[in-house]
Amino acid sequence: TSSAGGDEKEAVKGYFNSVGFERWNKIYGTTDEISSVQKDIREGHAVTVDKVLKWIREDGSVQGISICDAGCGTGSLSIPLALQGADVYGSDISKAMADEAARRYQEQSRAEGSGQRAAPRFEAQDLESLTGSYNTVCCIDVLIHYPPDKMAAMVKHLASLAEGRLILSFAPSTPALLLLKRIGEFFPKGSKATRAYLHKEGAVEAALNEAGWKVTKREMTSTRFYYSKLFQAAPASL
Ligand code: SAM
Repeated sequence: TSSAGGDEKEAVKGYFNSVGFERWNKIYGTTDEISSVQKDIREGHAVTVDKVLKWIREDGSVQGISICDAGCGTGSLSIPLALQGADVYGSDISKAMADEAARRYQEQSRAEGSGQRAAPRFEAQDLESLTGSYNTVCCIDVLIHYPPDKMAAMVKHLASLAEGRLILSFAPSTPALLLLKRIGEFFPKGSKATRAYLHKEGAVEAALNEAGWKVTKREMTSTRFYYSKLFQAAPASL
């Protein structure tokens, strides 16, 4: 049953501050001590991040532009953008994740030496309480934690924070993925602590359209255990 109210959000928060943090910190890290499934997810996710960076690069320099990375995890996207000179605000419902992102930025920034850039700001905050206005809002692989009946409101909220560009990804609801999910291959073992919600591509696009946005770029990344549909959207009036 899908009540999926505050209790489920609390469960997600608890998970990503404990066992979920341990699991995803490894997947999004560089240690060799991971299973083949985790390695597959790591590689798929890296492809998504590269696609986002490529799209952003195609649109021009990020120097000085404001970027909100909603549900930033360990900073896989925030950190390269900040190192390129973007003004990054990354937040995550999990304090463990946000703290790890800040730690990784310090480490990588030191390794790269000095340059013209400001440190990103990382904070523990949930998507719902984000406010303000950013040139670009990114929300990568987070909507999997939102049940379909909460997805549209969240997509509209994210669009309301963005001035020029919204980049988001989700696990698409397709017959093949629904089947994988049912037989328990999708998000296996330990990660069962959270539910995984798939979204229909048309439903996500409809939510964007209702907010006055249009999808301008699309990509799909799939490996054995990682499935992520990526959209870039812009205000329909632009
Ligand atoms: N976006 C990051 C990336 O691609 O590397 C992390 C993706 S990870 C699969 C999902 C992240 O979403 C976790 O770090 C989790 O804590 C965060 N998250 C889940 N629900 C959230 C919410 N309601 N508000 C903010 N963050 C949330």
